Amino acid sequence: MINNINVALIGNPNTGKTSVFNALTGLNQKVGNYPGITVEKKQGSCRLDRGTKARILDLPGTYSLNASSMDESVVVELLLNKNDLDFPDVAVVVTDVENLKRNLLLFTQIKDLEIPTVLVINMSDQMPRKGIKIDLEKLEEQLQTRVILMSTRQKTGIDQLKQVLVAYRKLNTTPLFDPTTIDESYFESLQKAFPNQSLYKLWLVITQDVNFTKLERQKVADSTEFKTQSKSYLKKLQQRETIKRYQTINKTLKEAYTVNREEATDLRSKLDNLLIHKYWGYVIFFMILLSIFQAIFDWSSIPMDFIDSSFAQLSEWTKQQLPPGVFTDLIAEGVISGLGGIVIFIPQIAFLFMFISILEETGYMSRVVFLMDRGLRKFGLSGKSVVPLISGTACAIPAVMATRNIENWKERLITILVVPFTTCSARLPVYMILISLVIPDDRFLGINYQGLTLMGLYFLGFLMAILSASILNGFMKTRYKSYFVVEMPNYKLPLLKNVALTVWEKTHSFVTEAGKIILAISVLLWFMASFGPGKNFANAEEIISQQYASQSMSKTEFENKVASFRLENSYIGILGKTVAPLIRPLGYDWKIGIALISSFAAREVFVGTLATIYSVEQDETETIKKRMGRELRSDGTLLFNTATGVSLMLFYAFAMQCMSTLAIVKKETNSWKWPAIQLFSMSIIAYIVALITYQILK
Ligand code: GDP
Ligand code: MG
Repeated sequence: MINNINVALIGNPNTGKTSVFNALTGLNQKVGNYPGITVEKKQGSCRLDRGTKARILDLPGTYSLNASSMDESVVVELLLNKNDLDFPDVAVVVTDVENLKRNLLLFTQIKDLEIPTVLVINMSDQMPRKGIKIDLEKLEEQLQTRVILMSTRQKTGIDQLKQVLVAYRKLNTTPLFDPTTIDESYFESLQKAFPNQSLYKLWLVITQDVNFTKLERQKVADSTEFKTQSKSYLKKLQQRETIKRYQTINKTLKEAYTVNREEATDLRSKLDNLLIHKYWGYVIFFMILLSIFQAIFDWSSIPMDFIDSSFAQLSEWTKQQLPPGVFTDLIAEGVISGLGGIVIFIPQIAFLFMFISILEETGYMSRVVFLMDRGLRKFGLSGKSVVPLISGTACAIPAVMATRNIENWKERLITILVVPFTTCSARLPVYMILISLVIPDDRFLGINYQGLTLMGLYFLGFLMAILSASILNGFMKTRYKSYFVVEMPNYKLPLLKNVALTVWEKTHSFVTEAGKIILAISVLLWFMASFGPGKNFANAEEIISQQYASQSMSKTEFENKVASFRLENSYIGILGKTVAPLIRPLGYDWKIGIALISSFAAREVFVGTLATIYSVEQDETETIKKRMGRELRSDGTLLFNTATGVSLMLFYAFAMQCMSTLAIVKKETNSWKWPAIQLFSMSIIAYIVALITYQILK
């Protein structure tokens, strides 16, 4: 009498299931489809020993039993249905020795269904090259089943598998994992309602009902209060299950699985070894960053200057073509310069994403994420937060957009919220002029104080980002720690098409989404600076010509005086005077107030606004600096002294003064709540720090 048994090969995609299947069945196989769906069904047979024949089923690749695709649901459906003709007497979970951690998730789930389960670790021929060592005895003890090292390529382990399959009844079928640790009350009452059922199986029946309706397993779900739980609650429990399973797996592997990269002999492992080295890894990463930022600044300055001057010319040209009037001014000064304010960011965004995409495509980025993850995780960030935080030094807008590949929502949100603290390039002109005004141009041991201050401000930005991340991390408690499974892809040459697509997608999304809001606020600011209530604004020219009647002035001098007088009496000027009492304790007057308010649109307008107020030519920075250096307070002391200067720098370091960033944060978080929180909390921090600084230094 020949004993027939059913064997199912289960595993993640590309672990070698089909290779094992072929090794077992040889030519005795046939390929069909699962009834009604297009998923391929491979079956074959194999003589295990004289008395036993196995029917082997090669199941579609699946990552877990929390099915999310048609392929995966085929597997779940089979394993939940004891009446299925193919229901396995023994399950063989095929795994890849290099990705054992990820593979074991599925293994633990299948083992918990109380089906005899064998673990095959395939591709064992790779172990010496990768420096992998496995303590089989420990692993078998921890996983409570037989573990077989196999290489279908070198044809080892097949006979051993056959022997284990013959004796499948000896395999231990107790579950590895106790679902009550996910949620005690929920699972205890579930078990009480169905005392004779495997708890994990019950749980699968309930959750699979959530994921897809194909299964008609309403019995359990209908007859109990368990289905009344909301879907999102069940999803949460499912996530928690995955996390708990990974925690157990990590513990198991810590004892039984070691990778010694130093011993690895293949090129990829050697390169990995260097790139995630705890010292060299960082050195290489910062060298790469340095070159990228150098390139971004160098390369984008040319198109940015071009865009700047083109829009200025376009604005000038429009003024000449259209009849003078408010409408022309709106177009020339409001709309066109607003559009210019959008387009000018494009080169930086495009270059940054080109580099990021190249680093990702080559496989290098996964190594950086791995390298950084441990450190950043302490602060509620993820290894993947590195890219946004660094990109933030160019501009917060692409940086916020770069958070999209952080899967964990909490980590992504924290990253978005703290990114604006990093010193973006818009702060640079502000810092430059203030530093040159209040920091002495001296050297100590060859180190220039001004350069040191600038570097200090960059450090301060990162420090503040990390600090606020850890505070936010404390506030936003979630019960779900994220677990870490990065797969290290193979190194490869980047595909030009993928790089181009990323650049296009990011740029396009910036222009269409953030662009609208930037444009709207630019027009609003133009309006507030171009109009004012009362006679002073309307009669600016007469008033100035009367005031300076005795002096001879050039035409530009006169026009500058008028412009400055107008600005003082415009809506924004009045607003500046209104906030003056509020910012006096920080050492600022109403003119700085105007600059601060218009800086909420974009920081870089600080210098330009002050230039208009002090009525000097806008593009001669040297003159503005001298002019600012002469400005006096009412008591006759210098306005821009060390106390005010440092206080202002710190204000700009911390304040959320960028409407474009707020716009992109609104887009990425899909709510006004987070940008509002950002705006208020950052501005309050800026105010307090600036206040304390001024009061101490004055
Ligand atoms: P499936 O997707 O799980 O069915 O996996 P396949 O059997 O199609 O194999 C996926 C890849 O792994 C193929 O490129 C195989 O050549 C390779 N592979 C399978 N077994 C081994 C092995 O023992 N050693 C090595 N180095 N590669 C293997
Ligand atoms: Mg296959």
